Amino acid sequence: MNPLVTAALVLLGGAAFLVSTAVRLAPLLALRRVDRVSRGGERLRSLLRYGLGQARLVDPEERVAGWLHVAIFAAFLVLALRTVTLFGMGFSEGFHLPFLAEDAPLGRAYAVVKDAVVVAALVGALGFLWRRLVTKPDRVTRSTEGTVILGFIVGLMVTELAFDRAGELDALGLTPGGVDLIRLGGYWLHLVLIVVFLNVLPHGKHFHIVTGLPNVYFRRLPPMARLEKLDLEAEGARFGAATVTDLSWKEGWDVYACTECGRCQTHCPTYLTGKPLSHKEVNRALRRHLGEFGPALVALARATNDAARQAAVARLPPLGAVIPPDTAWACTTCGWCETACPVLIENVPRLIDLRRQAVQVDAVFPDEAARVFKGIETQGNPWGIGSNKRTEWCEDLAIPRAAEGGEYEWLFFVGCAGAFDDRQKKVSRAIVSILREAGVSFAILGEEETCTGDAARRLGNEYLFQLQAASLVETLNGHGVKKILVQCPHCLNALQNEMADFGGKYEVMHHAELIARLVAERRLTPARAEGLGRVTFHDPCYLARWNGVVEPPRQALRAVGVAPVEMPRSGRQGFCCGAGGGRMWLEETLGTRINRHRVDEAVAALGPDGGVIATGCPFCLTMMKDGLADAGAEESVRAMDVAELMALGLPKGPAKPDAPKA
Ligand code: SF4
Ligand code: SF4
Repeated sequence: MNPLVTAALVLLGGAAFLVSTAVRLAPLLALRRVDRVSRGGERLRSLLRYGLGQARLVDPEERVAGWLHVAIFAAFLVLALRTVTLFGMGFSEGFHLPFLAEDAPLGRAYAVVKDAVVVAALVGALGFLWRRLVTKPDRVTRSTEGTVILGFIVGLMVTELAFDRAGELDALGLTPGGVDLIRLGGYWLHLVLIVVFLNVLPHGKHFHIVTGLPNVYFRRLPPMARLEKLDLEAEGARFGAATVTDLSWKEGWDVYACTECGRCQTHCPTYLTGKPLSHKEVNRALRRHLGEFGPALVALARATNDAARQAAVARLPPLGAVIPPDTAWACTTCGWCETACPVLIENVPRLIDLRRQAVQVDAVFPDEAARVFKGIETQGNPWGIGSNKRTEWCEDLAIPRAAEGGEYEWLFFVGCAGAFDDRQKKVSRAIVSILREAGVSFAILGEEETCTGDAARRLGNEYLFQLQAASLVETLNGHGVKKILVQCPHCLNALQNEMADFGGKYEVMHHAELIARLVAERRLTPARAEGLGRVTFHDPCYLARWNGVVEPPRQALRAVGVAPVEMPRSGRQGFCCGAGGGRMWLEETLGTRINRHRVDEAVAALGPDGGVIATGCPFCLTMMKDGLADAGAEESVRAMDVAELMALGLPKGPAKPDAPKA
């Protein structure tokens, strides 16, 4: 052992690593500040579950790759102590950590675990090399770096074994000199490999070995689909993301945590249908950008006066040049990428910030979005249909209005689609008949109802959203509303998760949840709905993935005698219909159609006799209906809302017009 060489390795290797790490991370100081330390308990739980527990690594589609990663990760954790011991031995041969003495029970147990993880990591690294060089799955980025890093891991494990187990070669007839050579060679090569490996990390995607766990700790916390409210009145207000400095430091950290595993792409509706958007590629582009403009960002972080700050910002290109507009506009905000990412990297907020910039500052955005904004602004709905027609769907149903001041339990928030879209009006009526059948007291806002502004917000018009939200909250609070029933998951998300920023705190429930509850309470005892054929449930992203409502619609279906056939992608892992994020109103000009992709999957699940695609969202219903028409499957497959299926089992069926008064 050699204290001088060991000290040189520790000091030079450690210093070089710290300098490289600081150089990579320093540009983040120029990025926007956000609080990512409050709610520490939730953060710790995330760290345990997703970080140390690797909860998203072992996904059902690629269990083997997941377990290989778990093996390597476990080895890194366990061998951290071994690394300290090995460097300590360089200074003093008999060094050991006080609690890991070889003859102590803990030390013996550690030795067994250590040997197991070394073998597991060796298998893991060789398995990944096989995958990278032979099977080559699509989602993995091909890079020499990946192969080199795996080579390092193999080298580290082999040298650890050589040092630790060389003595056993005695039995194979190796001379004592040969054993010593292998042992010492293994030892020094191991230390050198550690130092070189450590210094390779900050220069590539394997920096995630350092940044991954903190990234999980600093994650965005639920509610996940809540967008940040911009303070548009503040001095120097931010209206979107003009340059990378408008992203948060966490969004910068994210790109260093990306492992380029590609899980985010596997069911991204835009990526799979040929649009220019991949969460992974956005991260790669931003990482290159932070590297290229690192010095300007560091200068900006150091600037002490406005002139210096402006000069530094002037050196930065617009963020739109790094993440092109077609990429930002392609996203349906379905959330697949974020919920698949093993290190919880955020994607949707930064794309929405780009849209905000395009809409609120640059005024360059799709014409269809302009029509949506105008419709909401002038008539309170994205279609721009006269607001005086909002209650036409229920003129014959004598539904009480909240403004009448009567007692009611639920405020039924009908939503723009439920009030204006001819197909969805039938769903609204089905919900009314269900509520009446179960004896639920409810009222509607009627003429006072207006759009939540969800579509405007997700299309980048934060200003319009805030106007809508403030006015709607004023109306709801003015009527003392506490419990809101919705039929649209986008209304659910806005009312439940986003109105609190405007003083609106409500208990919000989707109609499928209420139906399931009414069935459980036996307030609804529907008959079997006959003649439907097979039924599959398409989970709306803003219901299942973003807001966790998965079982209630299925319970409702079972209540009318339907055992839903599951599509391969369902529940929280459902596949988007293509309408979220305001995409409902935008033309889909790039690639193939997302709704067709989903409908094909549903039709295949239903089989040759067809049946029903059930859902619980007005936009999904439209997308399924249009997709069926596109696929020429309208004759054999119907798209229906879960409320309509429930209403079929009720004595009176969907709400009919009142009988003419005598
Ligand atoms: S964003 Fe997450 S899921 Fe996508 S490649 Fe990076 S680490 Fe993998
Ligand atoms: S939110 Fe959905 S559409 Fe947008 S990038 Fe992620 S997976 Fe793709």
